[in-house]
Amino acid sequence: MPRKTFIAGNWKMNKTVDESVVLAKDVVAQVGDVSDVEVAICVPYTSLTEVARVIDGTSVKLGAQDVYWEESGAFTGKVSCEMLRSAGVEYVIVGHSEQRSYFGETDEAVNKKVHAVIGAGLHPIVCVGETLQEREDAVTDAVVARQVKAAYDNVSAADAKKTTIAYEPVWAIGTGKTATPEMAQEVHGTIRSLLADMYDQDTADSIVIQYGGSMKPANAKGLLEKPDIDGGLIGGAALNADTFRGVVLPE
Ligand code: PEP
Repeated sequence: MPRKTFIAGNWKMNKTVDESVVLAKDVVAQVGDVSDVEVAICVPYTSLTEVARVIDGTSVKLGAQDVYWEESGAFTGKVSCEMLRSAGVEYVIVGHSEQRSYFGETDEAVNKKVHAVIGAGLHPIVCVGETLQEREDAVTDAVVARQVKAAYDNVSAADAKKTTIAYEPVWAIGTGKTATPEMAQEVHGTIRSLLADMYDQDTADSIVIQYGGSMKPANAKGLLEKPDIDGGLIGGAALNADTFRGVVLPE
């Protein structure tokens, strides 16, 4: 079965509840009836329930930007998978480079989150990607392979099929620098081959691999035309419904 293009907006730490409702309504107006592309918006925790109301009955899905793997208890400041599920969440970003670099998220933590998210019946969007230094040191493939293998440690093929991978070169996130379609395709192809080695070709072929890093209407088409680039994780361009539409339906 061909993979369905999947575009997810990552609003990061932007938008109050009221601002989120306005933006979510705009997103629904722009892409709320798109069915041949999977569309999700990953909003701040504080906006989840209100945005869930806005997108209810549309094709837009709700995502969260992080989660904690424990079910409940004395973990001040953390939010569980069940809490997210009860708020209407379907997708959860894990291992975003901002979590890894600012908050010390380790490969082991990413793996625990992947297991917890799948266990709760939700779908992780697993972020991987190299820093500029790592690219210059020509260790991109090794870094991405380490991150993917760690994230999927002890994850079955059946469960792996419920996940999405976002390849996000750290040097391209929020910088305006995009990997060329050729550069991105090379890494996406490497990730797909790795998944085939870890699992089997059918599993590798069914996992959506998004690109992330300054993706916008002007470069979305070229990226999405590549055989192993199946979608995008969109930061800055997701904060405006017009530009988000331009990535979901690039011309
Ligand atoms: C992101 O937050 O995952 C991202 C890719 O951001 P931007 O599109 O702004 O580079």
